Amino acid sequence: MDTVQLYVDDSYLREFDATVVRTGPKFVVLDRTVFYPEGGGQPSDLGTLEVEGKEHNVVKVMKRGTQIFHYLDGDIAEGTAVHGVIDWERRFDFMRLHSGEHLLTGLFEAAGSGPKVFSSFSQLDFKPSDLTEETLQGVRRRFDEIVKMDIPIRIYYTDRDRLDVGEDARKQSFLEKIPPDVETLRMVEIGEYALTFCMGTHVKSTGEIGRLRSLRLESKKKRRKIVYFEL
Ligand SMILES: [Zn+2]
Repeated sequence: MDTVQLYVDDSYLREFDATVVRTGPKFVVLDRTVFYPEGGGQPSDLGTLEVEGKEHNVVKVMKRGTQIFHYLDGDIAEGTAVHGVIDWERRFDFMRLHSGEHLLTGLFEAAGSGPKVFSSFSQLDFKPSDLTEETLQGVRRRFDEIVKMDIPIRIYYTDRDRLDVGEDARKQSFLEKIPPDVETLRMVEIGEYALTFCMGTHVKSTGEIGRLRSLRLESKKKRRKIVYFEL
C-alpha cells in the first residue's frame, strides 16, 4: 500500500491520524503521513507517533518506492491506529531555508551566475562562474526587497511534455533523472524570480523566509564560485 504524502498538498500540517500498514524491527509504514522523508537536500522530519497515550520517537524517515518508512525507538504492531506529531520548529526552519535557497538560486541565475552545480541550506555553488562581489550585493538587496514584498510562493502541476527547460543544462539533467513514468511535475514558483520543479516543503510566501543575515562569496579553482548564506 502506498503512503499518502499529506505534506505535498499542505506543508503546514503538524499532526495527523494514521494506521500502521507494515512493520519491521523498529520501523513502521503508515497509510498516510505528515513526516517528510529525507530527500532533495532536506533532512527528514523528527517527531512522535502516539499509541494509546504512549509516545514513540520518530528518529528518521525514508522513502522507499511508494512507501514511507518511519524509524522508531520501539515497535508498533500492524493495524494499530497512531497519532503523529512532527517537530514543527525544525520543519518550519527547513521550509524557510529551502524556500530561501530557491529564491537565491533564481536571483543569482538571473544575474548571470552561471549554472548551479550544488546547493544546500547554507551554500550555493556555481560553475563555471564569473560572479562578482558587486553582483552578490545586488542580489542581497533584491532578496530582502522580495522578502519585504511578501509575495506568494505558488505550487502547481504541469505535464512533463509541456515543460520547456530550454537551454538550461541543470534543469535538463534534473528532468532526465525523473523516472519516465512520472508525467506530472510539481512546480514551485516565486513570482517572476524563481521557478523549478521540486517535491519539497516550502513556506507560503517570501515574508516567511526572512531577511538574509549574511551572504558571502568565495572563489575556488576552475571558476567555481561558492556563495554562503545565512537566513
Ligand atoms: Zn523546493
